[in-house]
Amino acid sequence: MPMQGRASNMLAGIAASLRRCFARNPDARRAEAEAAVAILEARKAASRLRDAIDILPEGIVFLDADGRYILWNQQYANIYKRSSDLFQPGAKLADTLRIGVERGDYPEALGREEEWMKERLDKLFNPDGRHEQTLTDGRTILIEERRTSDGGIIGLRVDITEMKQREASFRLLFDSNPVPMFVYGLDDLRILSVNDAAVKHYGYDRDQVLRMSLLDIHHPDESFELGHLGGEPSEDHAGRTWKHRKADGTTIDVAIFLSHLTYEGQRATLIAAIDITERKAAESRVAYMAHHDALTALPNRILLRLRMEGMISDLRRNGRGFAVFCVDLDNFKWVNDTLGHPLGDLLLQTIAARLRAELREQDTIARLGGDEFAILQADVGKPEEASQLLARLLAIIGEPYDLEGHLVTIGASIGVSLAPNDGEDPDRLLKNADMALYRAKAEGKGGFRFFESEMDARVQARRRLEMDLRAAIKDEVFEVHYQPLVSLASGEVRSLEALIRWPHPDQGMIPPSEFIPVAEETGLIAQIGLFVLRRACADAALWPEDVKVAVNLSPMQFKSGNLLQAVRDALKDAGLSPTRLELEITETLLLDKSELVTATLHALRALGVHISMDDFGTGYSSLSYLRSFPFDKIKIDRSFVHDIGANTDSQAIVRAIVSLGSSLGIKITAEGVETESDLAYLKAEGCTEGQGYLFSKAQPQKAILALLAKQRGKKAAA
Ligand code: C2E
Ligand code: MG
Ligand code: MG
Repeated sequence: MPMQGRASNMLAGIAASLRRCFARNPDARRAEAEAAVAILEARKAASRLRDAIDILPEGIVFLDADGRYILWNQQYANIYKRSSDLFQPGAKLADTLRIGVERGDYPEALGREEEWMKERLDKLFNPDGRHEQTLTDGRTILIEERRTSDGGIIGLRVDITEMKQREASFRLLFDSNPVPMFVYGLDDLRILSVNDAAVKHYGYDRDQVLRMSLLDIHHPDESFELGHLGGEPSEDHAGRTWKHRKADGTTIDVAIFLSHLTYEGQRATLIAAIDITERKAAESRVAYMAHHDALTALPNRILLRLRMEGMISDLRRNGRGFAVFCVDLDNFKWVNDTLGHPLGDLLLQTIAARLRAELREQDTIARLGGDEFAILQADVGKPEEASQLLARLLAIIGEPYDLEGHLVTIGASIGVSLAPNDGEDPDRLLKNADMALYRAKAEGKGGFRFFESEMDARVQARRRLEMDLRAAIKDEVFEVHYQPLVSLASGEVRSLEALIRWPHPDQGMIPPSEFIPVAEETGLIAQIGLFVLRRACADAALWPEDVKVAVNLSPMQFKSGNLLQAVRDALKDAGLSPTRLELEITETLLLDKSELVTATLHALRALGVHISMDDFGTGYSSLSYLRSFPFDKIKIDRSFVHDIGANTDSQAIVRAIVSLGSSLGIKITAEGVETESDLAYLKAEGCTEGQGYLFSKAQPQKAILALLAKQRGKKAAA
């Protein structure tokens, strides 16, 4: 045990002299006994002290005023293993040190042994705080010495090797980390340390940074509270982003990771600052793209809805309404087709700019796609305010455009809905504005309409009609009636037009003018048209050889591409000669100038089928269409026939068509012949064939068979 300190020797000496004194004085025997007890107690106390200091983790040494060892613990001996055999009570620490220095136990003393000894002893006798000591085996010992009240010295030793190693690896991790890092004081935000990456990335020099506070690298515009920088680390510190300023004045976005530590005895925070400026820029580009139209840079449908939601919550708060405009350009397709897509794009961009310029900051204009725009007019109290904007919009859209030298004018149709009257959610308002737009377009180009609730009712009715139509197809409830086309000279039936009839369980007969357009829009016309074609061919097969059948074709039926085959099959299945079939088409079919349409028409004609131009005179530029295909028959629209006797314009038109027909070798039929007077005028103008209530309405096959039988009887009799 190194515990035989000088103290126990001292106690033994005192005991011996007491004993001598007691021997001389018998009265002192009692006192001797008491002293023996006291000595025993003192021995016990000393041993307890030894036990106590032995269990401490630090090394402890007690020296007297001359620096001689009195007492030390096991841990002290362990720390200075190489010298522990020299520790003797009464021996001087200075001597142990000198031996150690000569032996090279203290690397810091190498080459300056005397000086080192002097410094060390100075620290020992005039202790002032702590200092570190390095040993040859690489260990670091923290030394703290203090004077005791009796002039001696008490020394503490802590082996801090591991902590030093941890500190060194932290430094390495910090200094050579590719991520810029700073350590700043928690109390004053002064930057205490900075790594190479930060110096390089921020562009300040190291000395400069070490004179700065964290606030100096923060972007001044960015508001933040000191609480974010100081205080304890919390969840929201992780991954937050700050704006920092570099030495050259540029601003960067940085993702910040914070952790708190003690730095050189000070409460401090370490931040790692990852530059995410590029990523943020890319993210905001993506966000911009998700909310804007690429061609015009206007907000898209998504952003429009967000803005609408904003306006709706404003409306709820302050009661201020707004208007929704749906704008659709008229004939934009024509510009695109004739001038090409680049000029079409330019036109859209120019229109977008004009519309934007016409609006206020608080209004929104969005491109919904194609040639469709939507506008939100903020703060609309009365419909008149929307009317005024509407008029301005139509006017500026209508002004001519100079598209790289091509002068173009274009119109638009606009539908308007008003919040809160026409709805209080984006879907409803847009739907209603769209419905109004639909009405505006139906009424002609360049028009506008405000939403009315009866429009909604009409749309509902239309939706019901569509559902009923599907059911009618499924249940095969359609009928085909036939209306005679009569020779005006002889009154003889030359052919019969197949007209579809829809007996509806609740609504009686629904006229084709009501459901054919719906069937065309929904594509159901393909099935319906095929049904009429096949039924008409089958029925006509039972008629006399010299009576033809006329079937109406909708433009939609040409789109599928298999019309030719369908006609062939219908004729073959019915056993009807192609020369007995007439197909009626209208001008709208020829509007598109489609290759497919002309090719199909020629192929049908090559089969022997006749092609008639129906409702002639109601379209756009009828004469040019007459040239585009060799028609067999022109049917003059009944609007020119009605009351022809009283209308000299109609007479002139009919006369012109008749003479056109005879010079082109095309047969002319007048539709809608209702009176004897009509008949007389038509005959006088040289018309040879007619159709109308004067002769017969459309009738079912049974009635037609009877009619034809009667006619045959008459003919036979004649
Ligand atoms: P459309 O092809 O011009 O047929 C002639 C229409 O005029 C028929 O009307 C007929 O009933 C009506 N009409 C005949 N004579 C007179 C008259 O003297 N005075 C008046 N005011 N009207 C007369 P409907 O049957 O109502 O058919 C209307 C339109 O529906 C047809 O006009 C045709 O475009 C279309 N349509 C009818 N059936 C079919 C079909 O099977 N397929 C296709 N795609 N369209 C059809
Ligand atoms: Mg017709
Ligand atoms: Mg017609």
